[in-house]
Amino acid sequence: MRPPRGITLLQGLSGLEASLAPWRSRRGGLGLVPTMGALHAGHLSLVAQSRRRSACTLVSIFVNPTQFGPGEDYGRYPRTLAADLKLLSGQGPLIVLAPSAADMYPAGHATRVSVESPLAQVLEGAHRPGHFAGVATVVAKLLSLAGPCTAFFGEKDWQQLQVIRRMAQDLRLPAKIHGCPIIREADGLAMSSRNAYLSAGERALAPRLKASLDLALARLKAGDSGAAACRKARAFLERGGHFKAGYLVLADAETLQAPRKGKPRRLLAAAALGKTRLIDNLAA
Ligand code: AMP
Repeated sequence: MRPPRGITLLQGLSGLEASLAPWRSRRGGLGLVPTMGALHAGHLSLVAQSRRRSACTLVSIFVNPTQFGPGEDYGRYPRTLAADLKLLSGQGPLIVLAPSAADMYPAGHATRVSVESPLAQVLEGAHRPGHFAGVATVVAKLLSLAGPCTAFFGEKDWQQLQVIRRMAQDLRLPAKIHGCPIIREADGLAMSSRNAYLSAGERALAPRLKASLDLALARLKAGDSGAAACRKARAFLERGGHFKAGYLVLADAETLQAPRKGKPRRLLAAAALGKTRLIDNLAA
């Protein structure tokens, strides 16, 4: 596949170090934006942040099998490399790494990075056993391939961001982890590659998830306890019978456990809309 001008496309790991090396000593150094592709404006905002701070950005496009559980959507996850490259054109200098599963996990690969913190065991961790170990393993590997860099992650996956921060700190990886705000559609729906699964009818209902978080925030501001605010927001979300809430909670923003006095808090929600599972979160 021929990439647009300003983009170096690597569909395997060979040649990666040679492509990265000239940028390491440049002012700003390397930025890394890990993605699973099916790019949208949320991903592009990470690339834009990296561009502002880094001499060159490495965008990885890899649908990582180890972070999908059995019965999840690994097989049908959208794979749209040509369209992704088109979207990235004009954002250079860019190196796009789109390896195969065999490149990332060759025969004999036997190492797994697991963040053994309660942080990784609740919410998404509880619903998707093994998910964060899959994420941590692939991100550790990408950070190792990138070398010293600033890595950009979306707050859309708030818990994932905290897990990655923990891992990078624990392993003393030579990477700065930079969180980027959630990019939303005009009606509030957080952009996500999985939104493509929604039928037209479901798409029209989808903003209710963000609206339920807004309601919880309003109730907190009005003096409700966290539990009461979340109960009302959950009832609102499920009214009409379209959404089935997985969780809708107020948590400590860093530990994802019970809120701590004087520390930042986060409202986090996951819900199924038909066969599609959506997640969202909000500062509280
Ligand atoms: P994904 O391709 O879904 O694995 O996402 C790759 C990166 O893009 C992750 O750091 C996500 O948190 C981030 N991301 C996905 N959607 C959004 C969004 N709507 N706003 C900001 N960042 C996002």
